[in-house]
Amino acid sequence: MKVTVLGLGLMGSRMARRLLDASHEVTVWNRSPDKATALQAAGAAVSPTAAEAALGASIVLTMLADGPAVDDVLFCQGVAQVLAPGAIVLDMSSIPPSTAQAHAHRLAERGIDHLDAPVSGGTIGAEDGTLAILCGGDASVLERCRPLLEVLGHPTHVGPHGSGQLTKLCNQVIVASTIGAISEALMLAQAGGADPEAVCQALRGGFADSRILREHGQRMVERRWRPGGPSKLQLKDLDAATDVAKALGVDLPMLDLIRRAYESFITHGGGQLDHSALLLELERRNAPHRVGTRPDDAPEGSDFL
Ligand code: NAP
Repeated sequence: MKVTVLGLGLMGSRMARRLLDASHEVTVWNRSPDKATALQAAGAAVSPTAAEAALGASIVLTMLADGPAVDDVLFCQGVAQVLAPGAIVLDMSSIPPSTAQAHAHRLAERGIDHLDAPVSGGTIGAEDGTLAILCGGDASVLERCRPLLEVLGHPTHVGPHGSGQLTKLCNQVIVASTIGAISEALMLAQAGGADPEAVCQALRGGFADSRILREHGQRMVERRWRPGGPSKLQLKDLDAATDVAKALGVDLPMLDLIRRAYESFITHGGGQLDHSALLLELERRNAPHRVGTRPDDAPEGSDFL
């Protein structure tokens, strides 16, 4: 299939590479051009602008940071203007449901189809093609995208436009709360004299086991904070979930707690660190308690450490 990928960050670059490996014809664009050049060697055609990349595409896959970025690229940088009627905008970024609905509506006015298809599974899922893909929109549009989506993971239709994004917010409530719970458990284990790494191992197979315990719990005991999923993007999603909950009149106390913990972590400089680094916020509040003895592994110049 002829597909254009706009946005080659941690996720988009890995997804574009999988599509190339599966012999799809892929054109790429990224705001910072160096990330696009890196994909040229793997066989991608590189365009200097988003609109040029989208010209003639049957599917435009966007994997951008947030709602304003998708807005800007689609409607201010000329992508919607160059797409032919019948083309599909497959937006895999995590953005608010109402923004996805507005995009679907504006694109429909031009005869362009839209599927909101945010993902869960992180950079490992993007590399392995095992992402959970949460699809909102017309089921027939999902069927047209299916050959592409199945290279990236497991697509599920969850409802009309915006439902994919709503499902992603549900996912983030679970992910963020679980990261918070694991941080607290490891802090408790360490303070009480147990080996936190052995505790993570011991819990495997029990009710507390989860992919987050296995991946993020391991990150915490090894103190590896280089981002797979940056904390600032986690807060963006928790903010969106809070807005949706308010609009629907539902009180979600755990969401409120974990959102405030991430907000504080980011205010103190943790935005670029992986979302498992929320443990550092807990350690800041509980100094001198610290999980494990290994040194912190973080990008150069990280503000928090
Ligand atoms: P990232 O590494 O920070 O990449 C963000 C991408 O958006 C980059 O290509 C960036 O371009 C581009 N961008 C940001 N603002 C832009 C703007 N105003 N105009 C044009 N391009 C802009 O983030 P990521 O981890 O790949 O995440 C991408 C999306 O997937 C986000 O919505 C995130 O919440 C979601 N997600 C992430 C994960 C994860 O584990 N990382 C998992 C599931 C879902 P530059 O390179 O020029 O900065």
